[in-house]
Amino acid sequence: MTKQKILIAGAGLGGLTAALALLRDGHQVQVFEQASRLGEVGAGLQLSANATRVLSLLGVDEAVREIASVAAGKQVRLWSTGQTWKLFDLGKQSVAEYGHPYYTLYRPDLHGVLVDAVRAIDPEAIVLGAKCASFDASESGVTLVLEDGRRFRGDLLVGADGVHSRIRQGLFGADAPSFSGCLAWRGVIPAERLPAHLREPVGNNWVGPGGHVIHYALRRGELVNFVGIVERGDWTVESWTAAGTTEECLRDFAGWHDDVQTLIRSVQQPYKWALMVREPLQQWTQGRVTLLGDACHPTLPFLAQGACMAIEDGAMVARCLRETGDPQHALRRYQDARVERATRIVQGSAANTKRFHNPALASAEGAVAYVDREWNEARV
Ligand code: FAD
Repeated sequence: MTKQKILIAGAGLGGLTAALALLRDGHQVQVFEQASRLGEVGAGLQLSANATRVLSLLGVDEAVREIASVAAGKQVRLWSTGQTWKLFDLGKQSVAEYGHPYYTLYRPDLHGVLVDAVRAIDPEAIVLGAKCASFDASESGVTLVLEDGRRFRGDLLVGADGVHSRIRQGLFGADAPSFSGCLAWRGVIPAERLPAHLREPVGNNWVGPGGHVIHYALRRGELVNFVGIVERGDWTVESWTAAGTTEECLRDFAGWHDDVQTLIRSVQQPYKWALMVREPLQQWTQGRVTLLGDACHPTLPFLAQGACMAIEDGAMVARCLRETGDPQHALRRYQDARVERATRIVQGSAANTKRFHNPALASAEGAVAYVDREWNEARV
């Protein structure tokens, strides 16, 4: 395969993974990021072995290990009584079973590792303050047009510009998301603010009627990530940076166990994200332009796989180019290799809404029977 000049819209986790994989293969890469400075939004992320394997193949496993917490396992907790069910082990178990660890990370830390790795190969690869507006594609190449009028010519364009993707819009028209009915509260907590049992390196999934809460350790226990999902119909802004208040978050979880109240009160700044759903696209590629990550398969965060899928996509774009002679054929092959898997994850995540928020969880008695049946694991 001859080396290509590849334009990438968006320096999120997916765009940077693609950039790193493509640079390592000797392609020329330019990543256009709308933000004027890097330092991604402060939230947590769970990365399972499918994603940590990719990071290892890309040579950043040591740098990632330095910043990660290793989740020892996962447990379900009941919203009202705090009763705990151990679900499964991760830690050594993930390595034994899949050959790669299960990490919980602070997103800006992982973002920083990928930025450093990209810049170590090409210090000029990431262009900041570059908001992509549109593109013109022809049989011979593609021109990316920025909002400020600058134009960049390349052989291929990858739209990694997230859930509100302009490149998806250019390919397939404006999308029509529908509100899932769920609002996600997000925030990080300095661990020293919490009692010891809320700082353990275990993934916690509190389940209750109409909502659930996730928390886990970040940065080797320095921080704790908090996500609270609640069914609520009056907030439809899908954004990493929309702030809310502690009081509002406490109202959404009124009546939940004291541990949940403690977590909410300890969050530094709560943010809120309206969770939208979209029909998964069945086509991601047209000629010299393709999509990856949330740009083509935004996913409810109920399987913790959205970023994992974006990371897988990024590596797969590079692999298909490596293994396929014709670049346009490579982009179609990438799409064909990924669509079914990504669609399954989108649908599986949506299906978890009912599981986590089931009305059977309302009464303590019904809840115990429900969790025993649904998760089928021993109580601790
Ligand atoms: P993004 O991370 O959104 O990156 C897109 C980038 O493009 C951004 O840098 C943005 O600034 C830039 N951009 C956007 N528009 C333009 C433009 N026009 N021009 C130039 N640049 C542009 N996933 C997991 O795997 N594990 C988890 O535990 C997990 N937890 C989550 C919790 C919550 C509450 C939410 C909302 C999501 C969670 N996810 C999780 C999903 C995950 O965050 C996303 O799937 C992932 O960030 C997608 O990566 P991406 O690179 O496709 O898009």
